[in-house]
Amino acid sequence: MRLDPASIEASRILVVAPHQDDESLGCGGLIATLAPLGRRFHTVFVTDGGASHRNSASWPRERLAAAREAEAAEALRRLGIGDHPRSFFRLPDAAMPAAGTAEHGKALRAFVDIVRGFRPDLVLLPWRRDPHCDHRDAFALASGALAATDMPAATLEYAIWLDELGSPEDRPQPDEAERVDFDVAAVLPAKRAAVAAHLSQTGDLIHDDPDGFHLTPATIERLAGPVEAYWRPHR
Ligand SMILES: [Zn+2]
Repeated sequence: MRLDPASIEASRILVVAPHQDDESLGCGGLIATLAPLGRRFHTVFVTDGGASHRNSASWPRERLAAAREAEAAEALRRLGIGDHPRSFFRLPDAAMPAAGTAEHGKALRAFVDIVRGFRPDLVLLPWRRDPHCDHRDAFALASGALAATDMPAATLEYAIWLDELGSPEDRPQPDEAERVDFDVAAVLPAKRAAVAAHLSQTGDLIHDDPDGFHLTPATIERLAGPVEAYWRPHR
């Protein structure tokens, strides 16, 4: 199914990004299409993103995390939602607190407060079994908050790593979710500009950690094309 993103009727859209860059790679097309139509967005960045370059001497964790927040703010501006609300939860990248811990409970309560305050009618989430621990944990955290508020919102799940790294059991089962493709060709320049704002992740900022993470051109090409794909869960 390929849809025009402008056909989305939701007016208050909550974007859940495990890391600073997932909002642009996963949802940039929908955001850039719907923002000029007057829709409101609240973006939650779940982790601090501070673990992408563990061996960089010049970009220790705190400096990197601060840079990633600035990059995220610039990406939102390029997507047309520079003045929309966003929240940085600053949970430890690649080590989110486990369910049942005090830290997890605190994050869950903060998430519930955002849902109650923003009252989203659509939530864009990482795919529930995206093969990255933070993506799965962010999905679980957001889902827990939505369940706790008992406020019904439609959800769409975007997969970042599934096609590259996923095993067959990570993929959506036929009775679990249906794929929905949105034609985002008209806003591709904005989406690509937003992805490019994440200089620390594209290899353009940090040069003293050859083993650090970087988004490859192939990954960017795969995720920042004219079709933005989501999985809509069956209820
Ligand atoms: Zn991510």
